[in-house]
Amino acid sequence: MQERGQHSNRSRASKDNFGVRSCGECTLCCKIPRIEDIPKPSWSYCMHCKVGVGCGIYHKGRPEVCVDFTCNWLIDKNIPDNLRPDKIHMYAHGGKGDAVVKIMIDDDHPNAINSDAGACLIEGYRSMGNHVIVVTKDIIRFLCGHGREKPAKLDLDWTL
Ligand code: SF4
Ligand code: SF4
Repeated sequence: MQERGQHSNRSRASKDNFGVRSCGECTLCCKIPRIEDIPKPSWSYCMHCKVGVGCGIYHKGRPEVCVDFTCNWLIDKNIPDNLRPDKIHMYAHGGKGDAVVKIMIDDDHPNAINSDAGACLIEGYRSMGNHVIVVTKDIIRFLCGHGREKPAKLDLDWTL
């Protein structure tokens, strides 16, 4: 899976503060998406990832697509601390204005979508009127934002 702007993490390895938070031990976005610039397939860790630690090439020219990516938890203080992506096995991306929020579920934890934390994240966005797309390894679900009309068509800037 490739998402434009995917995968950066200015604080991942250095633990310096970028935006609101630091990634800490989370490396989930080094696993789920396909990243052509490395290259890496979706649903498997990047060859440079030190799982639970950070990016092994953080200071050695990681791809721009990694530099530019931030999940929503990293930059949105309205998302509770305890919803850090590695702890709830999913991360949210996008959703400014009327855009669709994408929620990517760790394939090792497919039932995370049914967890209290998952419901909190997903319903939190829907209650704000965001449409939500929940992506698991096998299924993509579209969930309409509360109070919104279901769109006839969605233009997405990523492909599976
Ligand atoms: S999913 Fe978010 S918190 Fe986790 S490593 Fe990626 S940017 Fe950091
Ligand atoms: S290059 Fe670094 S930041 Fe990019 S996916 Fe690999 S481990 Fe993660």
